[in-house]
Amino acid sequence: MVGLDQNRWRIKLFNPKYSFKEIGEGLVEKKRGNIKANQNLINKKNNYGYLKLPEVKRNKFQVVIDPGHGGPDPGAIGIGGVRETDVVLDVSKIIKNLLSEKGVKVRLTRTNDVDLDLPPRVSIANNTDADIFVSIHANASRGKRRDINGLETFYYRGWRGRLLAKRIQKQILRVSPGSPDRGVKQGRFYVIKNTRMPAVLVEIGFLTGRLDARRLEKITHRKRLAYAIAKGILEYLDKVG
Ligand SMILES: [Zn+2]
Repeated sequence: MVGLDQNRWRIKLFNPKYSFKEIGEGLVEKKRGNIKANQNLINKKNNYGYLKLPEVKRNKFQVVIDPGHGGPDPGAIGIGGVRETDVVLDVSKIIKNLLSEKGVKVRLTRTNDVDLDLPPRVSIANNTDADIFVSIHANASRGKRRDINGLETFYYRGWRGRLLAKRIQKQILRVSPGSPDRGVKQGRFYVIKNTRMPAVLVEIGFLTGRLDARRLEKITHRKRLAYAIAKGILEYLDKVG
């Protein structure tokens, strides 16, 4: 099963022996023709065509990606012990590769599980004269409630920060079907408040949430999120320059 959109999934069934009874919810799209041809079509469409990354002017932009936490501070600890520090580092590294392929210069504030205070994260961005700053985090709910899931993106000030947040939020929702849209919000987090360029802090899901945690522990989902964030960034760079 693959999530195509917030409210759309595609389930592939190979040689189903029985037909379906409609239960009044959703839509069954029957594919005609032979299975091989259908399979090719499905493979083509499932390649996340809608996530095709936009092109931007090469060697023009510099982006700082900030994987939250690290070292003695693992961040949120989720269901099954999955750690925020590991999840966000993974996602950040993939974002770096994707953006680099598009000719965007990317600097990660940390590349392994090291302790890094907030001020040096900000200094890296301010000193490299980055165009944008994107901090990646995963959430935990108070009391580790499994029914709380969702994604949200924060900015501190300015229309540019808000636009960047909106572009990223839209894309990460598309790859997280069923997980609530907690919205684009203003937040006073140190790293987005003290960086001089448009800056956002992305919460890619709740490690304590039943739905989000199951996804965030998988590399396939981390890749999808990285694609989504890279797409939001590229769209922003293309528009605002
Ligand atoms: Zn965090």
